[in-house]
Amino acid sequence: MGFILVFQDLRLDPRLLRSVQHLGFAKPTDIQQEAIPAVLVGRDLIVSSKTGSGKTLAYLLPMMQRLLKSRPLSKQDARALILAPTRELAKQVYAQLRLFIANTPVTAALIVGGENFNDQERLLKRQPNVIVATPGRFLDHLEHKSVFIQGLELLILDEADRMLDLGFMPQLNAINKAADHRLRQTLMFSATLDHAEVDELTLSLLKNPFRVALGSGH
Ligand code: ADP
Ligand code: MG
Repeated sequence: MGFILVFQDLRLDPRLLRSVQHLGFAKPTDIQQEAIPAVLVGRDLIVSSKTGSGKTLAYLLPMMQRLLKSRPLSKQDARALILAPTRELAKQVYAQLRLFIANTPVTAALIVGGENFNDQERLLKRQPNVIVATPGRFLDHLEHKSVFIQGLELLILDEADRMLDLGFMPQLNAINKAADHRLRQTLMFSATLDHAEVDELTLSLLKNPFRVALGSGH
């Protein structure tokens, strides 16, 4: 990977660059500099870095770039799924995503526990391009056939270690199986990799991943 200084060097869609400017971010963080080009060339990715290192944009930006560059975005099954351990985290990620989908045709839905199932089912029937969800509630919808992910292009696991600590391994495996697409790209983020179950998850979900480990004592 070359040396990147500013967001413009990442060759992102002008709409994304404008949103980044809007946020007031001058340059990508170390993690973003390493991760974004790897995702853009289609690699699976595993990132471990401390809280606050900018992992959210490390996946939201290349995900959006892929969605904006490839086939049309009208009615179709989900293209990207972002899983987070808790409702609060999923909501934060969704709020960030909303900034980036503004002024683009990309659609998104937030699907977390504790909210009305039927309302969520109606949201999913509209076939959002991106779904941000907690694993338990998302699996409920998969089993209920309110959503289909056979054609999923991007599976993103944010705070994978926390999802495993919360006992979500079975849900993650079931979701992985349902999204078993030949061309699927998988991105996994974790504060630490010193976690036996993270290894297990990496082996079952990722193909020849590019690894980025920064500032987490490794
Ligand atoms: P992590 O997931 O690694 O804990 P976040 O993605 O939540 O980190 O980002 C931490 C903070 O840094 C957030 O407030 C975010 O808006 C901010 N941030 C992200 N990328 C940049 C950047 N390139 N420049 C400045 N601030 C950034
Ligand atoms: Mg994070």
